[in-house]
Amino acid sequence: MATQKMLKFVTLPKETPEKRPPTLRNQDFHEIYREFAAEKAAEQAGRCSQCGVPYCQSHCPLHNNIPDWLRLTAEGRLEEAYELSQATNTFPEICGRICPQDRLCEGNCVIEQSGHGTVTIGSVEKYITDTAWENGWVKPIKPAVERAESVAIIGAGPGGLAAADVLRRRGYQVTVYDRYDRAGGLMTYGIPGFKLEKPVVMQRIEQLELGGVQFVLNCAVGSDISFDAIRGQHDAVLIATGVYKSRDIEAPGVGAQGVVRALDYLTASNRKSFGDEVPEFDSGELNAQGKRVVVIGGGDTAMDCVRTAIRQGATSVKCLYRRDRANMPGSQREVQNAEEEGVEFVWLSAPKGFTAGEAVEGVMVQKMRLGQPDASGRQSPELIEGADYIEPADLVVQALGFEPEEIPTLWGVPDLAVTRWGTIKADFRTHATSLPGVYAAGDIVRGASLVVWAIRDGREAAEAIMGYLAQTGAVAAE
Ligand SMILES: Cc1cc2nc3c(=O)[nH]c(=O)nc-3n(C[C@H](O)[C@H](O)[C@H](O)COP(=O)(O)OP(=O)(O)OC[C@H]3O[C@@H](n4cnc5c(N)ncnc54)[C@H](O)[C@@H]3O)c2cc1C
Ligand code: SF4
Repeated sequence: MATQKMLKFVTLPKETPEKRPPTLRNQDFHEIYREFAAEKAAEQAGRCSQCGVPYCQSHCPLHNNIPDWLRLTAEGRLEEAYELSQATNTFPEICGRICPQDRLCEGNCVIEQSGHGTVTIGSVEKYITDTAWENGWVKPIKPAVERAESVAIIGAGPGGLAAADVLRRRGYQVTVYDRYDRAGGLMTYGIPGFKLEKPVVMQRIEQLELGGVQFVLNCAVGSDISFDAIRGQHDAVLIATGVYKSRDIEAPGVGAQGVVRALDYLTASNRKSFGDEVPEFDSGELNAQGKRVVVIGGGDTAMDCVRTAIRQGATSVKCLYRRDRANMPGSQREVQNAEEEGVEFVWLSAPKGFTAGEAVEGVMVQKMRLGQPDASGRQSPELIEGADYIEPADLVVQALGFEPEEIPTLWGVPDLAVTRWGTIKADFRTHATSLPGVYAAGDIVRGASLVVWAIRDGREAAEAIMGYLAQTGAVAAE
C-alpha cells in the first residue's frame, strides 16, 4: 500500500518538433552549436576521406566540387570554401537546406556506403554560405561591361533566377516577369518556411535587384502581357514557369467544403508567414488548427502538408497513400521526420469518396494490396473488396502532384512544341525550344522536379542564350 502511495503518474509535456533534438542528418551548425559552430562544421567536413572517386560530386546535379570545399572548411578557410561552392551553385544555402541529399550527394558518399554515416554535405554547404552572408562575402553583381542585349525571363522561380544571375553577371539586361507579387516561385510560396526560411530566399532576390535585374511582378504572361509582346521587346526569352495544374481526385464529394488542394493550403500558410492578409486562412478554410486532417498522396508535397498541419495545431494528422512505404515516391528522410512529429501513415489506402454535411466529415477509404509490377517496374495497387471504412476528417488536402498548364493555348503560340505530357519540348543541353530565340528550363520542361535541377537548367540555358545572342549579334551589330 505504501509503495502504491509513492507511485505518481507524471504527464510529460507534449514534445513539439521545435523541442525535439535534431538528428545528425538535419543538423544546423549555427543553431545547434552556436559559438562552437565553426569547430563542429570543420569536424564534420574533416570526416570526408577525400576518396578520389567523388560519387557525391557526380550525383550532385550541379557537380559541385564537394571534396574541395569540404577540405577548405576542415582547414577553417571558409571564404575560399564559399567562393568555390558558389562558383557552381547560384543558391548554395537553399540547396543545403532543401535538396533531398539522401538521394543525391550524401546518399552516394563512400563513407555512407561503408556504413559509417555520410558526411552531412548539405548542412556544411548551408553553414558555409550562411557564414558568407553574415560576413558580407556575398556581393551584388557588378558586371565588368554593360551589354545592350536584353533577355526576358518568364517565371521567377529557381530556374529563372539562376539564369538571370548568370546573364546579369555577363552584363546582359535582364527582365524577370512573374504573375505573383513576390519572386522566388515555389521557394517562396510552395516550400514551407520550416524547411526553407523565407528571409533566406528574399535576401537572394534583393541581391539580384541590387545587381540590376529588373523584376516585373503581378504580371501574368498570357493575360497581363502577351507572349508576342515580350518577344518583341527582348532579344531572347527564357520560359521558366513551373508546373501548377493540380491533379485532382475524381471521386464523389471531392467538391465539398474542406477538401482543398495542396498548393492552396501551403501558399496560404506561407503568405501568412509574410504577414499578408489571407482571408481563407483566417476563416479556417485553409488552416488545420484544431482539425482532424487527412492528406492524400505519398510525395514530398504531401510530406510538407502533413508537417505544416502538425505545426498549425491539428488534433490529428493522417497521410493516406495507396502503395506501401517502400514504394513511396517521397524522400524516406521526410517520412521519418513526419513520423517523429506525430503524423500517422495509412499505407495501402486510397480515397473512394468523401462524406459531407455542410463541410467534409470523412474520407471513404478503400484498402489496397500490391499486385504485379507495371511497365515502370513498380507494383500496381489492387483493390481489396469489402475492406472499406470511413476515416473521419475536417480538412482533406489533395497532394497528388502537378501538371503543366497548356501554355501554347493559353499564350496563343501554337508553334511552341510540347510533349504528350504538356511539358515544353526543349533540347536537353541547350534548352532551346521550337521557337528561335526562345528557351525553356526547370519544371516546365522536366515536369515536377527539384530546385537543384531547375538551377542547373537555368544556368545551362543562360549559357546557350549568350551563345545565341553572340551568333545572331542581335543588338551588338546595330
Ligand atoms: C510543396 C512543394 C515542396 C517542394 N519541396 C522541395 C524541396 O524540398 N526540395 C526541392 O529541391 N524541391 C522541392 N520542390 C520542387 C521545387 O520547388 C521545384 O522543382 C522548383 O521550384 C522548380 O523551379 P522552376 O523555376 O522550374 O519553377 P517554379 O519554382 O514553379 O517557378 C515558376 C514561376 O513562374 C511563374 N509563372 C507561372 N506562369 C506564369 C505566367 N503565365 N506569367 C508569369 N509568371 C508565371 C510562377 O508564378 C512562379 O513564380 C517542392 C515543390 C512543391 C510544390
Ligand atoms: S546542391 Fe544539393 S546535391 Fe549538390 S552538394 Fe548541395 S545539397 Fe548536395
